Amino acid sequence: MLSVILPAYNEAENIKRAAKRTGDVLKEAGIEYELVYVNDGSTDETESEIESLADTDSHVRYVMFSRNFGKEAAISAGLAHSKGDCVAVMDCDLQHPPETLPRMYKLWEEGYEVVEGVKSSRGKESVAHKAFAGFFYGIMSKAMGMDMRDASDFKLLDRRAVEAVLSFPEYHSFFRALSSFVGFKKTKVDFEVQEREAGKSKWSLKALFFYAMDNIMEFSAVPMHIVTFTGIITFIFAIALGIQTLIRYFDGTAAEGFTTVIILLLFLGSILMISLGIIGMYISKIYDEVKHRPRYIISKCS
Ligand code: UDP
Ligand code: MG
Repeated sequence: MLSVILPAYNEAENIKRAAKRTGDVLKEAGIEYELVYVNDGSTDETESEIESLADTDSHVRYVMFSRNFGKEAAISAGLAHSKGDCVAVMDCDLQHPPETLPRMYKLWEEGYEVVEGVKSSRGKESVAHKAFAGFFYGIMSKAMGMDMRDASDFKLLDRRAVEAVLSFPEYHSFFRALSSFVGFKKTKVDFEVQEREAGKSKWSLKALFFYAMDNIMEFSAVPMHIVTFTGIITFIFAIALGIQTLIRYFDGTAAEGFTTVIILLLFLGSILMISLGIIGMYISKIYDEVKHRPRYIISKCS
């Protein structure tokens, strides 16, 4: 059986649409399936939509969160509650076309344990969004040593890979990367990002920035190494300038150089602040992890 996990946050209009389209596709392909909706603390009619759907469609199960915990938490909960031999994760705004599922399923039957959906086109996105996504995935790819540029959360995993992903106890998980990180026999499937069926995207540029920073820090200590590296560079400059200053002092021309002092002060000040910020972000991550708080709280499930 195939479990399809559908994280949903304020997607009332898309719940039944997603079930219908996914169900039609899977029935036609003769694939046994279940749909696991994870309601991520929606404030609209998502919850009642899912419940009324579950009443009429025996393929549908659900997990309801007590509040919004974010998509990563929703995916984790979905994985933990899925019962299928293989599990797919799919956005319920139908930007991930369900028509791709039979292709993924077939690859799984052929023995692939991680089938990754790769965006062949990124759909309609603003220029700023595209540029930023490019920058973020560039860093991510370098940090992880794998090509993340067109990665998405649209994936199909064998039960063993699902268990492996679930065995990572971290509070901040990043499914897109973890599912690659666990290894196993991997392959890729191209899909075209669709227009959102209804509702709007939950991502602002600011949210994306913090999401990117968070995930870079989950997988890489490079930002901290940059701090050290910047320190070394400034130290070299400090030696050069120090020597020059000493020479001037003994020359008796030490009074000038006020501009240099101001520039240095501002420059070093900002580097110090940024560096502290980077270190602070790691510390806050460590803090989040040591608290061992639950990743999500379930109010109801079926
Ligand atoms: N989502 C979620 N919790 C959140 C934000 C989003 O479960 O806090 C779900 C959302 O309902 C959708 C998927 O994650 O099914 C992708 O979200 P969205 O469409 O807003 O992101 P985009 O496609 O614009 O990247
Ligand atoms: Mg979307």
